[in-house]
Amino acid sequence: MIKNIFFDLDRTLWDFEKNSELVLDEIFFEFNLKEKIGAQKEIFINEYKKINETLWNQYRIGKIKKEFLRYSRFKQTLELFNYYNKNLSTEISDYYVKECPKKKNLFPNTIKILDYLKNKYNLHIITNGFEEVQIIKLKSSGLSDYFDQIITSEKIGVKKPDPKIFSFALTSAKANKENSIMIGDDLKVDILGAENFGIRAVYFNPNMNIHNEKISFEIKNLDELISLF
Ligand SMILES: [Mg+2]
Repeated sequence: MIKNIFFDLDRTLWDFEKNSELVLDEIFFEFNLKEKIGAQKEIFINEYKKINETLWNQYRIGKIKKEFLRYSRFKQTLELFNYYNKNLSTEISDYYVKECPKKKNLFPNTIKILDYLKNKYNLHIITNGFEEVQIIKLKSSGLSDYFDQIITSEKIGVKKPDPKIFSFALTSAKANKENSIMIGDDLKVDILGAENFGIRAVYFNPNMNIHNEKISFEIKNLDELISLF
């Protein structure tokens, strides 16, 4: 009997790609990057995304620290276009970190499904995002009040898929493995992380990524949760 539902935040409820793209768009115009780097916006954003992903992978395995990730992703992107200006990359990094979490785009049916679930279950968040950023995202997108426990990897000191973060989450929520379920978009981090720890999981797979894993549930749209719960 499920009592506790643990949600991932980025790319599961909060539309990270859309929100991030909005801020990168603002940055491109605000900082006059077309003139500075001599490239089109789409090319700048594409290169930034590749660099950001590489750095995030290094951050995830503990190879680099948060501050290095935040500043280097813009510094490296500008340098790719032969633009060397440490102050500018710092200003852009600060702008991104300040503005991105204020964006409000959610995946379709997020509010509908949370309204449906909130009276029947205890809802919680487990996220690998940064503490102060995730709290702002929840507030600005109107999600704060739906969740009982907000577990961030930054606070706990370990990231999903480390079983310690799931164990900590169950303790904080006064939950157990049998009455809990995890919902997230990252197969390895959220889904296999939870299932290897011993709680069932719902894989939110809006792009229908192909995989060979045996998992409890898989959905393409959040409103499919209504038939599961
Ligand atoms: Mg995610």
